[in-house]
This record gives sequence, C-alpha cells and structure tokens, in this order.
Amino acid sequence: MSSLFPTYARWNIEVDQAKGTILTATNGKEYLDFTAGIAVCNLGHCHETVVKAVQEQTEKLWHVSNLFHIPLQEEVATKLVAHSDGNYVFFCNSGAEANEAAIKLARKYTGKTKILTFKQSFHGRTFGSMSATGQEKIHEGFGPLLQEFSYLEYNNLSSVKAAMDENVAAVMLEVIQGEGGVNPGEASFIKGVEALCKEQDVLLIIDEVQTGVGRTGKPFGYQHYDISPDIITVAKGLGNGFPVGALIGKEKLVEAFGPGSHGSTFGGNPLAMAAAIATLNIALEDSFLAEVSEKGAYLVQQLEEKLGNVPFVKEVRGKGLMVGIECDGSVGDIVGDLREQGLLILVAGPTVIRILPPLTVTKEEIDKAVEMIAKACLVTN
Ligand SMILES: *Cc1c(COP(=O)(O)O)cnc(C)c1O
Repeated sequence: MSSLFPTYARWNIEVDQAKGTILTATNGKEYLDFTAGIAVCNLGHCHETVVKAVQEQTEKLWHVSNLFHIPLQEEVATKLVAHSDGNYVFFCNSGAEANEAAIKLARKYTGKTKILTFKQSFHGRTFGSMSATGQEKIHEGFGPLLQEFSYLEYNNLSSVKAAMDENVAAVMLEVIQGEGGVNPGEASFIKGVEALCKEQDVLLIIDEVQTGVGRTGKPFGYQHYDISPDIITVAKGLGNGFPVGALIGKEKLVEAFGPGSHGSTFGGNPLAMAAAIATLNIALEDSFLAEVSEKGAYLVQQLEEKLGNVPFVKEVRGKGLMVGIECDGSVGDIVGDLREQGLLILVAGPTVIRILPPLTVTKEEIDKAVEMIAKACLVTN
C-alpha cells in the first residue's frame, strides 16, 4: 500500500544505486540505462566530479537566500552566457519554473499578452507552463487554463504567419519536440519563425529543457539552426540530477526583471550551483560535445542499419544523443519487454521509442542497446 498520489505509472524496478550508464536494482538486477533520468544525468549517474563538488559544498554552505551575493551563481551564469546568445540569467529549480519565468518576462517586457506555442509541445506542469503545452491530455480536468495561448502546427510556418498580430508577446518552441515524439524542427521553419519574430518585434523563447546542456552535440539545441533567441530556458541536464533550472535572456530584457519583479527561495541554491558548475565545466567542452555528436551519429547509423529492413520501423530521427524511432504501431510492449531484458528506454507518444542515454555512453553500450532494440522490433514484426 503506497502513501503516494498515483500521479506516475511507475515501472516495477527499485533502484538501489547507479554509476555511469548502469543502474543496480535492490534485487541485484542490473540495467543499461538509456533514459538518463529523462535527459537529466547527462554525465552518467554519480559522475565523480559532480559528486565531489556537491560533497565539498555540503560542508561549506547549503543555503542563504537571494538576499546575499552568491559567487557560485555568478560563475554558473557567466558560463551559461559565454556559451549562449543570452546576457543575463535567472535561476530556479525546474523546467516548468524556467518556462514560467519566460512567460512572465515576455509579458512584462512587451506589455503584450499572447504567447504562440505548438501542438505536441511540452513545457511543464505548472499553470503557465501547462497552458503553454499543446497537448490536450495534459490540460484535462484543469481548466480554465491561463489565457492567450494558441497552439500552432509545428514545422508549418504559415500557421505562425497567420497567428502573428499586435498582441503577440512571444513565440515559444522546442527545436526538437521531446515528449511530443522526438520531432526535429526543420531549418526553414525555425529560421522562418525567427525572422517573423524579428519583423513583428515578438520575443523568441526556445525551451532547451530537454535539448540543452550538450544533449544534441551543441551546448544548446538552437545552435544547430543559426538563430539568436531572446530567451532560452534550461533545466534537466543542468545539475546532472541535482534540481536546478535557469532562464537565459538577452540584454534588452534586463529592466523587465528588476528588483522585486520575480524570485525563488531556492533558485540558485549553492548546492545546486556547485552541481551545475561541475556539470557545465565538462559538458560544454568542445571535445566532449564532439564526442556526443560522433556517438549520436553512430547510434543513428547503427539503428538505421539494423532496423532498415524491419517494416515495423518507419523512421529513425534526432540529433546528438536525443534519438527517436517512429514505429508503425504501439511501442509500449517493446519498451516493456526490453526493460525485462535489462535495457531501459522511453516512449514519446504511443508510436515513438525515445532513446536518451547519458552523454558519456560508450560505443560498446550503444552496440549492445542497438542489438537488443533490433531483436525486439524484429520479434514484433
Ligand atoms: C521536461 C521538460 C519540461 C519540464 O521540466 P520539469 O523540470 O519537469 O518542470 C519543460 N520543457 C521540456 C522541453 C521538457 O522536456
């Protein structure tokens, strides 16, 4: 009998400990983890450097509140700014909170109310971020939602053109829709949205909660597209498992988030900052990112080679180590069977297998996972 609200359909696994790509259950069974805590433990579980940074910080200072200057926040912010198009950072504790901050900042800066988002998007579960999310199943039973959101067709520039008017504050999108099915934005679409935003003085918000911190082989996913967003939101991979979120915004926005305008008790907590700086120092290194790209290309190539002739498999897509396999039917059973066999992967909607290994995954681990996935897809055929 559980005393928890049953908000999650949980797997029948209790994890005792984890290292790198391997989870060990309380019953001793080992799993190859190609979920990384849903794109969170990007450096692998219990990465030594991050563990050490947090351990050392626990002995020095846990929390003081944002009434104080916190040098670690400055350090993380400087790093995020150096690797993005932004100039200022606001810290919070999750992806939803980062998007919440983005919605507030966009409204405050522009004085306008409408935010354009997309069908199949996912931006979080708080009222604002849920209202931004273009999926009915996530809204169900919670209405009325926050007003003034429109859900447009992803990869359809004319839907954006048609929705632009003088009341639009911002367009908000993921460059690869994660929860919605691992749907990469087409370059012409992403660039087109940026151009429309510039033309109409509308802010461009890129939700990098899943695609950020090296997941796609660049510091941030938008950097594959030669665009310069006004606001970027980050969370999942930022603390390698320590809860932390951030909004990165451009210079012009600085006055809209002046003293007293927005805040968070825990945002930028020293423990979270210690985890974040240790994570970023590794994950944003050029050589590390080059390996992510290389391993991602290898994963896709291996999947295409081994699954190319399987009629059940329609498409392999993604960037870096964020990969989806679109299938011709439900993938729930395949993912469940693989879990029994010791490989953990995710779904993104009913027909897409989603693969998000730690960015530190080895080629041998990729080979093993691909072989298991190929076998499972063949059996399903
Ligand atoms: C996971 C996710 C969120 C929500 O993050 P939380 O930390 O769960 O609030 C928002 N946007 C995207 C793209 C995500 O993948």
